[in-house]
Amino acid sequence: MTKATIEKITKSRCGLCGNARKKLTKTACCGNWICDDEGNYVIFSYARNCCSRNHRRFTLCPHHHEEKHKGDWTTCKECVADFSNTPEMCAWYGTNGYNFKKMPKPPAFKPTYCSKCDKRIVLPDGGYSDLCGVIRHDTEACDITEEERKKIIADYKSKEHN
Ligand SMILES: [Zn+2]
Ligand SMILES: [Zn+2]
Ligand SMILES: [Zn+2]
Ligand SMILES: [Zn+2]
Repeated sequence: MTKATIEKITKSRCGLCGNARKKLTKTACCGNWICDDEGNYVIFSYARNCCSRNHRRFTLCPHHHEEKHKGDWTTCKECVADFSNTPEMCAWYGTNGYNFKKMPKPPAFKPTYCSKCDKRIVLPDGGYSDLCGVIRHDTEACDITEEERKKIIADYKSKEHN
């Protein structure tokens, strides 16, 4: 192996998982090398093992790029404003392992608690249902009756009209 070949190999590693796969692509948003594994993704599998897809779907970097915000996304106020409804998601988008660099100051957020069992729900982990902003675990134990469902919807509608 020549020196040049060795150099080429060390350079072409995915910036997220470190894999030196044959198929690497450069991200459009930040120009980093990343596994070109989009094609491996099984639709509706919700797998989070695809580097390029994860970066595109679960970070602020591509959003910042596509919306043509100015400056660095890690300190971008516009990005935080765009996700002001879900600051917990914004903080996660800005600091999770699908990022090449992380937000130094992710937005503060109030934790979400299940409306049924009062236990904390970590929004980025999923596994919850959101009915008119009333959030609960998406499990049998935290299921709601048809009556409760109607009440939540009625409450929501009455709030909307006042
Ligand atoms: Zn990778
Ligand atoms: Zn990026
Ligand atoms: Zn931005
Ligand atoms: Zn619950």
